[in-house]
Amino acid sequence: MIGIAQGEDRMPDKKLFDTIIIGGGPAGCAAALHLAYHKRKVLVLDRGTSPMHFHTNTIMNFPSLATYSEGRTLLRQLQGVAKSAGAQFKEANVVRVSGAYPEFKVETARSYRTRDESTYLARTLVFATGTSRKHPRVKGQWRNWLPVANVGNGAFYCPDCEAPLCKDKEVLVVNVGTVGSALHVANSLTRFTDKIKILMTEDAYIPFEGQDLSRLENSPFEWTRGKIKEVEFPVPGRLQRVVLESGEVLQAEVFFVAFVATPRSEVAQTIGVDVDDKGNIITDHRGKTNIEGVWAAGDCRPITQQIAMATGTGNYAALMINQFLGNEYEHEETFDHPECRAALHTKDIPSAESEDTASKVEFS
Ligand SMILES: Cc1cc2nc3c(=O)[nH]c(=O)nc-3n(C[C@H](O)[C@H](O)[C@H](O)COP(=O)(O)OP(=O)(O)OC[C@H]3O[C@@H](n4cnc5c(N)ncnc54)[C@H](O)[C@@H]3O)c2cc1C
Repeated sequence: MIGIAQGEDRMPDKKLFDTIIIGGGPAGCAAALHLAYHKRKVLVLDRGTSPMHFHTNTIMNFPSLATYSEGRTLLRQLQGVAKSAGAQFKEANVVRVSGAYPEFKVETARSYRTRDESTYLARTLVFATGTSRKHPRVKGQWRNWLPVANVGNGAFYCPDCEAPLCKDKEVLVVNVGTVGSALHVANSLTRFTDKIKILMTEDAYIPFEGQDLSRLENSPFEWTRGKIKEVEFPVPGRLQRVVLESGEVLQAEVFFVAFVATPRSEVAQTIGVDVDDKGNIITDHRGKTNIEGVWAAGDCRPITQQIAMATGTGNYAALMINQFLGNEYEHEETFDHPECRAALHTKDIPSAESEDTASKVEFS
C-alpha cells in the first residue's frame, strides 16, 4: 500500500538543503525518494507542467503498474511516496541558479501556475526539468491543439509507448517535426496497422522546406501537406477529422502526433552545465554533469523518453549524490563522459582544472 502525504509543504525550510531538485516529474520524484529515504534534506521545486499531469492517459509500459493507468495518478503516487519519506515539495518556477558547490542559490519567480518568489540554498542540485513539446498548430496557434488532442480523445504521441494501441486502426500521422520523425512514427506503426497516412503540416515547428521530401515519395506511405484549420472529434477514437485551410478533410480513427520535444536546460546552462547541440544536458553514466555538485536526470538528458528511464536515472543520480555528500572519496570521482573531453579542457571547471586533472578525471 502506497502512503500518500496530503498537500504540499507550503513553507519549505530556508536553511541549506542537501539537495534541491528542479522538476517534480518522475525523475525528480525518484531522486527525491532516495535522498529523503537516506535522511538527506531535500526540496523539490516544480512548476507543474510534466506531461504526466496533462497528456499521458494511457501507460501500458511501466513495470509494476496495472496494465492500464494514467499519468496524473502515477505522478501523485510518486510524489506521495517521496513526501512520505520526508522530501519537501514546493510549487515554484525556478528562474535562476548561481553559486558553486557546496552552496548553490536557487531563485524562483511567479509563473502562470506558481506564486512563489523565494531564494533557496543547497549543497547539490539535480536538474530534472524534462522537455517542452511543440504540437501542431491549429489556426496558427500552438496551444489550440492541446485541449482536444489528448490521448483519451484518440490522439497518440509516443510510438514506443502507444503504437500497439493502433492495432488495425486507420491512423493519420500529424507531423510537426522533420520528415525523418514522420517516417519514424509511421514505420513504428506498420507492425500494428497498414492504414497509415502522413500529414506534413506546413506551419510546423521545423519547417520542411529544405528537407528531403523525396524520402516520403519513396516510402510506402500515402502523404499530403497543408495548414490545419480545424481538428474535430465527432466520435473520439473512431472518427476524427483534420480540416485543412485548402478545404481538404482528412479522416482517421487515431491521430498520431509527431511532435518536437525540446529539453528544458536554459536554467542549467546559466551555471555552465554543458549541453549538446539539441540542448540536452550532458552527463556521465551516473547523471553527473561537468559542474561539481550538479546532476541531471530524466528527459532533459539525451535518453529515451520513458517513465522507467526517468525514474531510473533519477534514482541513480540520487544514489551518487548520497555517496558524494557522505564520502570524501566520491569527490574524486569527477566526470567521466568520453565525449566531453573537449568540454572539460575548454571550460572552467574549478576542482578538476586547478589541481591534477589527469589523476582526477576518468575517461572510460
Ligand atoms: C503524451 C505523452 C504520452 C506519454 N506516454 C508515456 C507512456 O505511456 N509510457 C512512458 O514510459 N512514457 C510516456 N511518456 C513519456 C514520459 O511522460 C516522460 O518520459 C516522463 O514524464 C519524463 O519525466 P521527467 O521527470 O524527466 O520530466 P517531466 O515529466 O517533463 O517533468 C519535468 C518537470 O520539471 C518541471 N520544470 C521544468 N523546468 C522547471 C523550472 N525552471 N522550475 C520549476 N519546475 C520546472 C516541469 O514543470 C515538470 O513538472 C509520454 C509523454 C507524453 C508527452
